[in-house]
Amino acid sequence: MSDPLEQPADGLAALERVAREADAYLASLPTAPVRLARSNEAAEAFGGPLPDEGLGTLAALDELIEGGLDAHVRSSGPRFFHWVMGGTTPAALGADWLTSLLDQNSGGWDASPLASRLELISLRWLRELFGLPVDWDGVLVTGGQMANFTGLAAARQWWGERHGVDVSVDGLAALPQAPVLTSGFIHVTGLKALGMLGLGRGRLTTCADPMGAMDLAVLERELRALDGAPAIVIGNAGEVNAGLFDPIERIADLCDEYGAWLHVDGAFGLFARVSPRTAELAAGVERAHSVISDGHKWLNVPFDCGFAFVRDPELLTRTFAAGAAYLPEAKEDRPIFAFRAPELSRRARSLAVWATLAAYGRSGYRAIVERSLDNATRLAAQVEESDDFELLAPVPLNVVCFRYRPPGVAETELDDLNERIADAVLTDGRIYVGTTSWAGRVAFRPAFVNWRTTSADVDLILETLRDLGSQLPA
Ligand SMILES: *Cc1c(COP(=O)(O)O)cnc(C)c1O
Repeated sequence: MSDPLEQPADGLAALERVAREADAYLASLPTAPVRLARSNEAAEAFGGPLPDEGLGTLAALDELIEGGLDAHVRSSGPRFFHWVMGGTTPAALGADWLTSLLDQNSGGWDASPLASRLELISLRWLRELFGLPVDWDGVLVTGGQMANFTGLAAARQWWGERHGVDVSVDGLAALPQAPVLTSGFIHVTGLKALGMLGLGRGRLTTCADPMGAMDLAVLERELRALDGAPAIVIGNAGEVNAGLFDPIERIADLCDEYGAWLHVDGAFGLFARVSPRTAELAAGVERAHSVISDGHKWLNVPFDCGFAFVRDPELLTRTFAAGAAYLPEAKEDRPIFAFRAPELSRRARSLAVWATLAAYGRSGYRAIVERSLDNATRLAAQVEESDDFELLAPVPLNVVCFRYRPPGVAETELDDLNERIADAVLTDGRIYVGTTSWAGRVAFRPAFVNWRTTSADVDLILETLRDLGSQLPA
């Protein structure tokens, strides 16, 4: 009864079941609670032992949908401002469903000419969108974390080769400690990538000014002290607390001068280059050796998707090409993306990336970016005009870093008050926003990347935080 081979028509019925749900779901996104108060209990209701006899296709999906909608978070909706998470454009969503329907392995051309060709084109279109040199290349990965890993793996390969060692073959044992320099803005995934690569997340040299940005004088001093030894510099184009940027152009000057590798983490900040209003923030990125960004943030494709671009894709091949007799070889114009990536079998992320870029083009993405910039500017102005909120950092891009500070509350109480509002907001459901610690203070830091967010959604942020703050017992 529950043998899938005995239910051949269920494939379509299963898709129809989800499509029916999708209709109501998409309509609910603008108004339904971001998260239900009973979400934890709903998640924990899933359980029990592996069934001996399965429920059958539709019954299992029914259970998943019923419990799942109570337990999930509407993170692709317009009032989700936590971390930096995009929604999904209609074209990306449709293409993502098609990706599962076609179930392509984008490991190589023979496994899927479609996925491989679209990956080639998507990566070129993205380079055009970001104004990166067309003769660079790259690879799609699962997100910023693996993109940082991939870009820094190319950096590590280069660094080893500068010492006459092929790290991917001979390892790190014969080499000195690799000098890795960055600012206080480095993202935790950059650190984790250094750990995974054997470079050591604790072996960084941090060259930070009091705000955390790259201190160019310190960077130069450190590079000069290396006396010609190759180094890896990580520049940060958009950090997560306030959307601040390292001075990439000036860092690129120093990397040129001292022959260092420049890796730039632009997980969301690379999109600053999509609008002339903010392009200057990320000027100089085109002079880096590796640059990464995310698909599931400002590109608004479904999880999970990121991209790594490198000036010299051969470094990726020397790092990640693990040939075997049963695997094909790359031919010109028909790259085997598995030989540029950490993974061998790979989801065909290129379908969604291609579809969304084909559907909305350069002008569509400029509109999405500029709407997000407008939303951030609007919120920042509301914070500044109010007498109960305080802006804590400049707002160069799409993140607004501020706190609740009603008159009459002592400074020593403010961290606790803001933390309690932050706890309350996650179960309240009207909006979803997280906190950080900024200059030693607890701060909210909503980030705008979702194409659906309107100014009315923005207006709910202070209204909700004020409302929750006023309801808290002293
Ligand atoms: C989100 C983010 C990452 C990590 O990206 P994931 O897609 O979550 O792995 C890396 N760097 C920065 C600056 C980010 O904002």
